Amino acid sequence: MTQYVIIGDGIAGATAAETLRDENEDADITVITEEPEPLYNRINIKEFAKGKMAEEFIQIHDASWYDERGIDLMLDTHVWKVESDENEVVLHNGDGLGYDKLLVAAGGTPRDLPVPHSTADGIHNFWTFIDSRRIRRDAEDAESGIVVGAGLLGIDFAFALAENDVDGKYLMRGDRWWRYAMDEEGAEIIHDELREAGVEPVFGEGVDRFEVDRMGHVTDVVGTSGTRYDCDMAGACIGLDLNTGMLDGTPAETDEGIIVDEHMQTDDPDIFAAGDITEFYDVLVGEHNINGSWDSAQEQGEVAGRNMAAGEAGEEMETFSIVPKYSVSHFSMPFMSLGSPTKGDEFASRRYGEKEHRRLAFKDGRLVGAILVGNVRPVGPLTRVINKRADVADDKEDLLAEQIDLDEVLD
Ligand SMILES: Cc1cc2nc3c(=O)[nH]c(=O)nc-3n(C[C@H](O)[C@H](O)[C@H](O)COP(=O)(O)OP(=O)(O)OC[C@H]3O[C@@H](n4cnc5c(N)ncnc54)[C@H](O)[C@@H]3O)c2cc1C
Repeated sequence: MTQYVIIGDGIAGATAAETLRDENEDADITVITEEPEPLYNRINIKEFAKGKMAEEFIQIHDASWYDERGIDLMLDTHVWKVESDENEVVLHNGDGLGYDKLLVAAGGTPRDLPVPHSTADGIHNFWTFIDSRRIRRDAEDAESGIVVGAGLLGIDFAFALAENDVDGKYLMRGDRWWRYAMDEEGAEIIHDELREAGVEPVFGEGVDRFEVDRMGHVTDVVGTSGTRYDCDMAGACIGLDLNTGMLDGTPAETDEGIIVDEHMQTDDPDIFAAGDITEFYDVLVGEHNINGSWDSAQEQGEVAGRNMAAGEAGEEMETFSIVPKYSVSHFSMPFMSLGSPTKGDEFASRRYGEKEHRRLAFKDGRLVGAILVGNVRPVGPLTRVINKRADVADDKEDLLAEQIDLDEVLD
């Protein structure tokens, strides 16, 4: 009987398990997670932290979901390393678990700030449901809060402060929010939204150190400018270190993430990877890419599951190719990041109104990503253009038109 082992019960791992069960009703399937609870909606933990969503709406699967499908779920179980010579996964207690095909869908671990007291009480990462519960609990008593990390996670923490009536300051090292994807004009709309919500953006400012009271709880942040900020709680939202270490010493190559081809397969034919943890060959961008989004992780899990089964059955493998969409719902207007907006070598943008802006990212003349502020209706046509991989270097004006005429662009 084929033995499939999946490390990670996030959306990538859980989707792969379901796919493998659909493909092979007899296989042994084991899903391992170091978290104490089965799959939940990681996207919605921000709504929980804001106090806008009850706990029961965050959970996606309970234990019975795995039982009904004959999938073994191991909670609270940390995978220490993979012994690829033995086709074995080694757990924290030293036990080994054999596999025929392994999927690593272990995501990443939030980075702490490399400054004194960065892990003090009251300083939060924002990645797990447990983090979210702690943030909500602390926010009940906090009067002042600091956010660090000018990206998509930082904005979630900022609005969690705002919705809990915590007076927030958002420290950004650069001159704007998400400077790798947004230009100044687009970012200004977001800065206004932050101010309206009660969070003050502070530009050109980093963290020099946190200060704590005798109980070890954070009380102040001292910025790199020397300015001191009151701080009852803080969010360190500066990115993830992908959990690739367990593959050290195996033929599966790792860099920032686990290197996989467009089939989600590593250099070791028995090891696949899916989700945030991959540095996958992106056929739409034409190079290896990292993507931290729910729909991409889900689709990678499905493709990996099918390809793990296909390899066993000697069938042809499927190619992963989607245009990921990441919406932010905190603002008074819609906001969407589409594709790979930070991957461009050329950009074009336009502001249409007080709260409406579009920025397009091109690479080698092809559209690879976009940021849509205020009006997300162009998402359909822009997705089609990215999928077409056509040279649209001379069509920037048409792509910035209020109404995109696809016949004009793709003629
Ligand atoms: C607050 C927040 C808001 C977000 N908002 C959005 C959004 O609006 N839109 C969007 O598209 N995306 C959003 N994301 C990102 C999205 O949630 C992730 O891209 C997605 O969940 C990644 O899924 P994954 O399965 O690859 O990894 P994860 O969900 O990180 O799962 C990794 C799994 O691996 C397990 N694991 C890790 N290491 C080990 C180990 N050594 N041993 C055993 N188990 C291990 C973990 O326990 C976990 O089960 C958000 C994320 C957060 C935190």
